[in-house]
Amino acid sequence: MPTQTQYGLMSHEELVAEHERQSANYERLKSEKLTLDLTRGKPSPEQLDLSAELLSLPGADDFRDGSGTDTRNYGGLTGLPELRAIFAELLNIPVENLVAGNNASLEIMHDLVVWSLLHGTVDSPRPWSQESVVKFLCPAPGYDRHFAITESLGIEMIPVPLREDGPDVRFIADLVANDPQIKGMWAVPTYSNPTGAVYSEEVARELVSMPTAAPDFRIFWDNAYAVHPLTEHLAPAIDILGLAAQAGHPNRVFALASTSKITFAGSGVSFFGSSTENLTWYQKYLGIKTIGPDKVNQLRHLRFFRDADGVRAHMATHREILAPKFALVRRILEERLGTSKVASWTEPEGGYFISLDVVEGTAARVIALAKEAGIALTGAGSAFPYKKDPEDKNIRLAPSFPSLGELEKAMDGVATCVLLAAAEKALA
Ligand code: PLP
Repeated sequence: MPTQTQYGLMSHEELVAEHERQSANYERLKSEKLTLDLTRGKPSPEQLDLSAELLSLPGADDFRDGSGTDTRNYGGLTGLPELRAIFAELLNIPVENLVAGNNASLEIMHDLVVWSLLHGTVDSPRPWSQESVVKFLCPAPGYDRHFAITESLGIEMIPVPLREDGPDVRFIADLVANDPQIKGMWAVPTYSNPTGAVYSEEVARELVSMPTAAPDFRIFWDNAYAVHPLTEHLAPAIDILGLAAQAGHPNRVFALASTSKITFAGSGVSFFGSSTENLTWYQKYLGIKTIGPDKVNQLRHLRFFRDADGVRAHMATHREILAPKFALVRRILEERLGTSKVASWTEPEGGYFISLDVVEGTAARVIALAKEAGIALTGAGSAFPYKKDPEDKNIRLAPSFPSLGELEKAMDGVATCVLLAAAEKALA
């Protein structure tokens, strides 16, 4: 956020005139009676159509994988080896350390936290639930559903500043070295939700190497956007398990991913990567919960992708749809808010979101103004633990779902609300 907005340089009279101008713009916006939605970080119908072939795969006579397993039957807790091999390559995780599951990586994350609370991890002196307090580090702005898991299970959340190359590792290292109650950390290492941050290898190395007071500290390395660039350059997947093992902390990382934003958000395949010891622990409890994952779904994904290049080529078709939407948002923000300097925004090179920072103390007001004008924005503070944005300035924008026409209208409206809220604040 620029330190000096244009409004900060105006006289009182100029500000009053500016406020009137913005109020008139806003009244015009309201009179359009829009119903637009920028809250949904999900693929558009057009994107889902890219995977339409899945609906007729694997086909009536195709139900065996390469090793002859009948995918229609029970079993196969670790998922189809050939599909695991494809994602092992893309995620830079050895295939023997990667298992394939059902449709939601979020479910795996929830299981991991619950089982750590109930049973303890392989390195826990006792189940986490037997500790007086359990704490998680939460790089923020971050993914609201991560924070919802920890909040719902009574885990105390500590916000950590997130930079372009990952969280502030000095800050983190200090905390974890001294506090044995800090048992975990959320991380979205590639094109993070919502800022688009990409963890550097140095940050990753530091996170897996730093001494922790808790012997069972876990990093939830949620690589949900590992293959989701918006440009021709894909950020390389960091060999996180290898780095952790090299650092002498092989069990520190729980790596997650899924095809939710590759194929069908509701019917994709999830992946869990971790050390052999952690995977044995995981499967012990998974085998109680289920006899095996949906292997027919895994098989149709295998047939659809064929290999890792198939996934890469498929992601290029998503990019053709998504990149113009992100470019449009950027253009409108620049045109409408660039000179007044009342906002700053991230320019992600991948992923699904743009993080907009407005004048401090006005995010909730902008969201309320937008709502009154028929534009739904993600709730104030959503990207922060406990939904508390300490500066009330962050708004998560999700450009993927609306059409280009809707997006243009919505963003123009958002810009109007940002300017009006900033003028109100400057006058107050
Ligand atoms: N992780 C992140 C960072 C996300 O942004 C999302 C969806 O928005 C998910 C996980 C959800 O993944 P899944 O559909 O595999 O549960």
